[in-house]
Amino acid sequence: MKQNLSDSEEICTFCRKTFSSTGTEEWTDAYGNSFMIDKPDIKYALADTSLGEICICDECYKSQEFTGFLPADICEIHYQFGLGFLQASEDEQALKALNSALNYGSSTDLFLALTRAHSRLGHHAESKMFQQLASGKS
Ligand SMILES: [Zn+2]
Repeated sequence: MKQNLSDSEEICTFCRKTFSSTGTEEWTDAYGNSFMIDKPDIKYALADTSLGEICICDECYKSQEFTGFLPADICEIHYQFGLGFLQASEDEQALKALNSALNYGSSTDLFLALTRAHSRLGHHAESKMFQQLASGKS
């Protein structure tokens, strides 16, 4: 059965590059639930911003030109890429993206992602600290 194009194709909001699905892969969210998602040929992230839902590719993310976005939007973009890097087991990159997100805002989800990134990198003290922040204890 042929898939609907709008379901299998995304376009980068910034450079208009299109991504195609190369199949599906298993994702695990911050709460440990796993589900299947489309596996794109290029790394990208979707973020809900004040300007609507945007799609941003890896290259545009690296150029970091998020003009016109609110701090909360930039936080979300970094957070979404952090999750993507965690999924790809690029833990150093994930930590960098999540720390960037932390410069623009914070949320329980962000703290949970930071807990995972630090724990994978063997940073036990930091991992514990973010776990406590995530659970609302200080
Ligand atoms: Zn792009």
